Parts: sequence; C-alpha cells; structure tokens
Amino acid sequence: MKITGVRTHILQAALSRHFASSRGWYDTRAAMLVEIETDQGLVGWGECYGPARITAAVVDNVAAWLIGKDPLPTEYLWQMIYAGLRDHGPKGVIIQGLSGIDIALWDIKGKYFGVPVQQLLGGAQRTELVAYATGLLRRQVDDPACYLAEEAAGYAAEGFSAVKLKVGFGEEEDMAATRLVREAIGPAVKLMIDANHAYDSVAAIRLGRAIEQYDVAWFEEPVPPEDIAGYQNVRTLLPIPVAGGECEFTRFGFRELFVSRALDIAQPDVCAAGGLSECKKIADMAEAFGVRYNPHVWGTGLAMAASLHLLAVLPSHTPSALRPIEPMLEFDRTEHPIREAILTEPIEHTRGVVRVPEGAGLGIEIDRKALARFSAQ
Ligand code: CA
Repeated sequence: MKITGVRTHILQAALSRHFASSRGWYDTRAAMLVEIETDQGLVGWGECYGPARITAAVVDNVAAWLIGKDPLPTEYLWQMIYAGLRDHGPKGVIIQGLSGIDIALWDIKGKYFGVPVQQLLGGAQRTELVAYATGLLRRQVDDPACYLAEEAAGYAAEGFSAVKLKVGFGEEEDMAATRLVREAIGPAVKLMIDANHAYDSVAAIRLGRAIEQYDVAWFEEPVPPEDIAGYQNVRTLLPIPVAGGECEFTRFGFRELFVSRALDIAQPDVCAAGGLSECKKIADMAEAFGVRYNPHVWGTGLAMAASLHLLAVLPSHTPSALRPIEPMLEFDRTEHPIREAILTEPIEHTRGVVRVPEGAGLGIEIDRKALARFSAQ
C-alpha cells in the first residue's frame, strides 16, 4: 500500500453567541482536518489542534515526504517527519501538524487490518468513558451570576458527574463563580477549574486557598506553561491537584514536567502533542511517574474519536484498587457548529458517559457535505 495524497481541510464557523476564556473572546470556531489517501482506496482522517492555516501549511509542506510511502509503519513515519523538522520546531505548530498526520495514519492502519485503533494500541481496558462537561465560559453579560448557575445545574441534570469552570478573571470574580457553581451542582458532582494560565503563582495560590472549601478536583493551567517553578510552587502550597500540559509537546517536553514534579494530572492533546503514537508514550511515562492522565480535547468529533481510542487503552490511575480512579474524557459543551456536523454519526453522551467508537480505524465517517459547508479555503 502506498500513500497517494495528503489533503488539508480548513474549516470555520461563526458562533451565534460570543464566549470568552481568560485568554480572550471567541466569535468563530475553526478546525483543521488531514485526509490521507492510499492506492488501495483506504482513506485516513486526522485533526490538528492549533491555528488552522499554520498547521495546514505544515501538513502541506510535509505531504511530499509521505507520497509513495507505505502508511502502515506509523512509528517510522513519525520519526522521519520529526527528524526532518526537529531543528525548526520541536514544539508548537510543527508538532500539531505531525499530530494530525499521525492520527490519519492510525485510521488507515485500523481500516487496513479491519480493527479499531484501540486494538492496535494495545487493546481496550474500557469501552466507555466518564465524560466531564467543559463549559461555563463567559458571555457578553456583565454579571456571570446571571447564567453560570443555570448552565452548571443543566450539566448536572443531563447526568454529567463532573464539570469544569473557566476561571482567570480576577480573584473576586473567580471566587464568586466557583461558589455559585458548587452550589448549583451540589456536593456529589466533581468540580474542576481552568485558568488557561491567567495567573502567576502568587495569584494562583491566593485563589486556590480562597476556593479550597468548594472541593475542587483539579486546578488546570494555573500559571503559564513555561513557568515550571511556578507550577511546583502552586502544587507544593495548595491541597488542590494541579493539572496542565495542553501547551506541551512530545515525550521530550513532558519529560521536563514529570521530572520536575510540576503536575498531578497531565493533559496532552492527541491533536497537538504528537498524535496517537506520541501520546501513548507520554501516557506510559505519566504512569511511571505516578501522574494521572486526562487528555485535553477541544476539537471536532474527529479529535474526540482519536482521544477516545487513546483513553480506551490507558491504565487506571490506581490499577490494583477495587475502585480504580479511571481517566475521564473532556467533553466540550460550548458552541461548535462543526464538531457534530462533520461526522455522519456524531459522538454523543448518555448521562455523562461516552462510548469508544467500535468500527475499524477511528470508527467514524466524515460527512463530506459538511466539509464543503464549513470550508474556509
Ligand atoms: Ca484547558
């Protein structure tokens, strides 16, 4: 089998209502999908996290290296691309581009052997994942009290057993928002907070101490990703578990986070940190360091499917316990018109639980009409 084509799809959709994390306002959602064709008629799909036009440029430039190659030796192809570009970008968009290619190659490999990707990654430890609702961003309304409690209660009513609240808007607003959401979901639903690296360690520790009483399951990206010492400070001085890693890349980047004991929970994004090949390695490293692994997911249904196949094979965080702590799926509930539309069968939750797709490869089918509808090319 030979690769005959590598295509990029830049997609974009306007949002009906703008929303904000601590990093800024969103008025559109974008996606960058990779399509790899073979001479046997098999087609594989991948997705890149990150700025769509830049990751597309990376993939378009690497395409020539792939044409004519056998798509099955995924490890060899990963190493070839990484070695070719490591001098120019061992982190960031180069690795995001490589991630989408790697996922598409795994999709082809699964389809070629007629098995789901999770089986080729080692076999499923679980066929469904508890999903946590990511939402609770800010709207263009002055007082978040007007909508946060209602939105949070809605997730609990839908059956989600965990929700994540965006913070990073100032200590006072964050404290009030955390209290509101905790009261809205009750004591039984897990509550995580995510600052999207809005704070330095001084401010993050102050906030953490103020909200500790609301039983926070993890504090995500309290400080900028470059500030490893800041992560260590936050982790040492707060009883709340510290999560991060959506802005880190490859086993080499995560090695530094693990060795420096910066994290309790690692969150590599399969569409950014190096694809399925690399995230499996990072997951094995996380286990060896006693660090939990809950991947970052902020893409379309394709990103979700790839993440689910990885999540299926991860060890439990406490493998020998009678009631193991299982990894969770990040389930983005914010508006994303492309997310469900591009799959002929969207990935949905049932009472906060999501099944790992069962078909060959990633187990999903792309709706080409939706690709055309959202095309930004
Ligand atoms: Ca995050």
